[in-house]
Amino acid sequence: MRPVTDLDNRGGLFDSMLELEGKTALIFGVASEDSIAWAICQHLAKAGCKLILGYQPRYRSRLFQLKDQLDSIDSFYPCDVATDEQTKEFFDEWQKESPGSKADIVVHAIGFAPRETFDRHMLFNEMDSIDLAMRISAHSLQRLMRHSVPYLNDGSSTITLTYAASTRYVPNYGVMSVAKAALESWVRELAARLGENGHRVNAISAGPIKTLAAGGIPGFDRILNHVERNSPLRRNTTQDDVAGAAVWLASPLSGAVTGQILHVDCGYSITMVPESIND
Ligand code: NAD
Repeated sequence: MRPVTDLDNRGGLFDSMLELEGKTALIFGVASEDSIAWAICQHLAKAGCKLILGYQPRYRSRLFQLKDQLDSIDSFYPCDVATDEQTKEFFDEWQKESPGSKADIVVHAIGFAPRETFDRHMLFNEMDSIDLAMRISAHSLQRLMRHSVPYLNDGSSTITLTYAASTRYVPNYGVMSVAKAALESWVRELAARLGENGHRVNAISAGPIKTLAAGGIPGFDRILNHVERNSPLRRNTTQDDVAGAAVWLASPLSGAVTGQILHVDCGYSITMVPESIND
């Protein structure tokens, strides 16, 4: 089992500064205990949040195994962001069970591209595969937010997950690079349009972390190895690193931060020529 940081070390003072006690978070993207979204669940729970999870139906049994580990999980409903109807289903079910409920935090930790998009030369990717990757990995943020906004308290915080291949070439990441560039653009657009009501929208650009989704990227272990040797902190990013930043973005401590891409990557994104040229 993945070790969880000793969350209790943070103490009560930090928890009270976060002002997240009693807040409600909608979390999309838990597929396993390695999911970045699962670490975010644990950290938000520790800060006092109630959690409502939206899960992709294919991971139903995994989620059922995990849910008993966190008392803060209030409820969970299916949510497949591939279509608008299936996305809406989550909100219909939630409101049917808890009419008039509102949320303060939305976590969008969703990404997918069909296998062939990683295997084929970019020039020969089929339009259907590109469309699917864009719909699920980028445009789903807009879809989820459209359905969330009527149920968000003023001053809400939405957090999505991106990767630095959005702005620079990373071998084998393929169509996901294009999707992450679009996702980051959605972050800015939505932040600009929703800011009037104090709603904030930000992305965390995480360093590579071994998860189910990352396992599908060819050569991923070599990327992990490279980053560990060449990032300023000389280590890889963990799920807990990302979750810590997500808790800050969820809290009023980051109240003036919106439309931003926050790099949580052990500093790798500031480098250009790898340190290993000195080896
Ligand atoms: P993960 O496999 O645990 O999570 C991916 C999630 O996407 C799963 O929960 C899956 O159910 C969900 N998903 C895929 N298609 C969906 C659909 N049609 N409807 C609803 N949900 C769907 O992997 P992860 O690494 O925790 O990924 C979470 C996010 O973090 C993704 O956006 C990913 O691109 C991003 N990210 C990951 C890394 C990394 O190295 N792991 C780095 C940067 C960013």
